[in-house]
Amino acid sequence: NKQVVLKWFVVGAPTEKDMEVREGTAQLKAPEGSGGLVVKNLYLSCDPYMRGRMREDYSSYIPPFQPGNAIEGFGVAKVLDSDNPNFSVGDYVAGFTGWEEYTLITRTESLRKVKKNDIPLSFHVGLLGMPGFTAYAGFYEVCAPKKGDAVFVSAASGAVGQLVGQLAKLHGCYVVGSAGSKQKVQLLKDKLGFDEAFNYKEETDLTTTLQRYFPDGIDIYFDNVGGAMLDAALLNMKVHGRVAVCGMVSQHSYTDSEGIHNTFALVRKRIRMEGFLQSDYLHLFPKFVETVSNHYREGKIIYLEDIAEGLENAPSAFVGLFSGKNVGKQVVCVSKE
Ligand code: NDP
Repeated sequence: NKQVVLKWFVVGAPTEKDMEVREGTAQLKAPEGSGGLVVKNLYLSCDPYMRGRMREDYSSYIPPFQPGNAIEGFGVAKVLDSDNPNFSVGDYVAGFTGWEEYTLITRTESLRKVKKNDIPLSFHVGLLGMPGFTAYAGFYEVCAPKKGDAVFVSAASGAVGQLVGQLAKLHGCYVVGSAGSKQKVQLLKDKLGFDEAFNYKEETDLTTTLQRYFPDGIDIYFDNVGGAMLDAALLNMKVHGRVAVCGMVSQHSYTDSEGIHNTFALVRKRIRMEGFLQSDYLHLFPKFVETVSNHYREGKIIYLEDIAEGLENAPSAFVGLFSGKNVGKQVVCVSKE
């Protein structure tokens, strides 16, 4: 049973050396009375929030990983053995599993059955999984969007950002995205239907950059990065603008977060800035799956994935999230079947 384990708690930017790929033992029977499942892992999700679980911090909304154990994360898997009446051998499931070939899952609350059909199985950790749901809940429930709104999305080509932009376009908004390479900017404009996009790494003054794309100001900023971009966006918001604080990927590797300087803009422009967690909106999940699957089938949205082949490439895929190596949703394919 090949596994990826966390070696120690991480300080600063994560590196591949913080993880180890090793051979462990697999338990292939779910113990009687455990209510558990043994699954074969097919697709594993690399998500920025997992960086937080590599820190020895028990005060967060999710407990840290345990060094020496297989890393835990979202995945799509096939049931090999079941002691749970809700799941049968051969079912495909999505939810929390281990970064290993085979996992005994005893806490099954996060698992949902998924179908193998015209939608790729890997989408259940991306477009139709937690990141897609974050985009959906964040955009409709937190941003209070209206037709014609000017929307700015950072980390726009990533797992969450690419869907936020496309939902905003379907809603009749003007949408600009920022991303960290020429290739990503091109994809945003040519494939994902953003009105405009720019490479923030090539800009010297983000405040004037945003002024250029939003001469009349921003109605909605969907913030995936925090830091300097958030500061620049605050200065460019319209009166009564909304900032949905989804994540702060630029701050993950700092032991102390960078300060935000322009908070007086919140007062002056009566901006509503709201942090949110997708997990607070899970009652909307069935509606989300239905809506977004329909959009996908009707060709109204597309979804870019970056698939690393093989568990041994999981550490580099994960670390790549923090340098922008991933183009689209970062997934690790452990096995196709
Ligand atoms: P992505 O697929 O977007 O991957 C991360 C991307 O962040 C990279 O590709 C890179 O893109 C960008 N990035 C990395 N470092 C920096 C930096 N220093 N400054 C600016 N950009 C950087 O990840 P997700 O779409 O999965 O996640 C996006 C955000 O959403 C994260 O902050 C995450 O924590 C948050 N999130 C929040 C949830 C919630 O419930 N609130 C749930 C899920 C995710 P680039 O090349 O453009 O720099």
